[in-house]
Amino acid sequence: MRMWINGVGVDSTSGQVIEVADPATEEVLDTVPAGTPADVERAVAAAKAAFPAWRQTTALERAQMLHQAAARMRDHFDELVRLLTLEEGKPVPENAEEIDWSLNTLDYYAELGRHIRGRVIPSPAAGQLSLVLKEPYGVVGCIVPWNYPILLLLWKMAPALVAGNTVVAKPSSLTPLTTLRMIQVAFDHFPPGVINVVTGRGSEVGDALVTHPDVPVIAFTGSTAVGQHIARLTAGQIKKLHLELGGKDPFVIADDAPLATAVEALSYAALINAGQVCTSTERVYVPRTMLLEFAEALAERVSKLRLGPGIEPTTDVGPMIGDAYRSKVEEHVADALSRGAKVLVGGRRPPHLERGFFYEPTVLVDVDHSMRIMREETFGPTIPIMAYDTFDEAIALANDTEYGLGACLYSHDARKVRRFYEEVRAGTIWINDPLTDNYAGPFGGMKMSGLGRELGEEGLEEFWQTKHVHWDIEGGFKDWWYPY
Ligand code: NAP
Repeated sequence: MRMWINGVGVDSTSGQVIEVADPATEEVLDTVPAGTPADVERAVAAAKAAFPAWRQTTALERAQMLHQAAARMRDHFDELVRLLTLEEGKPVPENAEEIDWSLNTLDYYAELGRHIRGRVIPSPAAGQLSLVLKEPYGVVGCIVPWNYPILLLLWKMAPALVAGNTVVAKPSSLTPLTTLRMIQVAFDHFPPGVINVVTGRGSEVGDALVTHPDVPVIAFTGSTAVGQHIARLTAGQIKKLHLELGGKDPFVIADDAPLATAVEALSYAALINAGQVCTSTERVYVPRTMLLEFAEALAERVSKLRLGPGIEPTTDVGPMIGDAYRSKVEEHVADALSRGAKVLVGGRRPPHLERGFFYEPTVLVDVDHSMRIMREETFGPTIPIMAYDTFDEAIALANDTEYGLGACLYSHDARKVRRFYEEVRAGTIWINDPLTDNYAGPFGGMKMSGLGRELGEEGLEEFWQTKHVHWDIEGGFKDWWYPY
């Protein structure tokens, strides 16, 4: 497939390509251009040239173009879901949900962009007008990871476009295919240069985009390490950084939680997309009195999940995205075992699947916070369970992390619920319904999990800068002017 610059498909100036493989079979699906800084230059120049006219395009016209893109994605729904399943690996229902969510995000921001814009505030004196204006920045660089490549791109692109910015996007080298196909089939009615996609490695294309002087905003989703790298690279340029980074989300099971439902909720929260969600449950805290029964029920449930290629209708849990990601999970499990943890189920590569980056869903007990699996982002299908004695202790354990993306609680006790959402430092708190997002609900992290919010009105605000206009309409002499 080809990159998308100034409204047409193009190859890289390098003439080189990157192979994109199916993580379930390790077979090459297709290639994309290995972009270079020169390609970034072309894309940014196109986006910069398109900005003045796009900025003047009315909110209604912009909304109509976004609605049209959503409608075209609906027309190509099955094709996009299939391609995304092949390159990303998660099961078809999870990819159908991703595409559905993504196109509805376009509709949501199309309308929000028509309704919100600045305000008139009281002026210091009579005869004056004080306006608070919201203006686009210019070219927005969007850099996204592989785990939800379409959703995370459109959570940025949709608000950036309706706010009047133009976009240069860089998908992950592991999952660029669906993005390129989506742009071809659903976004080619946008004026040339308004949307550009450059494929290539982060260290080349990503760095060139991040440091480009004509890109005043970088909207990035990915690891905390790359987020820190971007912050360091741009420190001298005073850019607007919108960073959605890693997590280590806790799930606290309260002593009143109905065991069977809590087990189902936890399995989903920890294992959707093979645990490769930024808000995957990565640490579980259960009252000591319930631990044995809970862990056994969970292990029983998890052992029934069917591992296989995402494209098979019988699959519950797909492969991981790559070998390096699986090795990290293996290291975390080995570290936990060496410090006294026990595996109840899983803990290995499935012997019956020879190809693909599969790892069995794994339940561990006897874990504590000295272990990497309870401190570092694992990003795989592991569920480490730790016992607690009091709810105070559970809250302290939930907060004992450098991250602050999401946190889950299962409880019907209103006092516990209130304490949890007031005291746990995370950008999203889920009570009894883990990982459910809301178009209108701002999403993002506290602490090392990031800066800024996506979705909701906050997600649009990120792509506007504020200007205050103070206008004295009569323009007479002021008695505080010289001479004193
Ligand atoms: P990653 O390695 O940080 O990569 C993310 C993106 O950044 C990719 O497009 C990557 O390109 C690019 N990149 C890599 N090095 C770069 C550089 N030097 N300059 C600019 N861009 C660069 O993360 P990942 O492995 O793809 O994704 C998993 C991580 O994303 C996890 O930590 C997860 O928690 C996080 N995540 C966060 C959220 C959230 O909303 N907070 C959501 C989803 C995922 P290439 O890979 O093509 O080189």
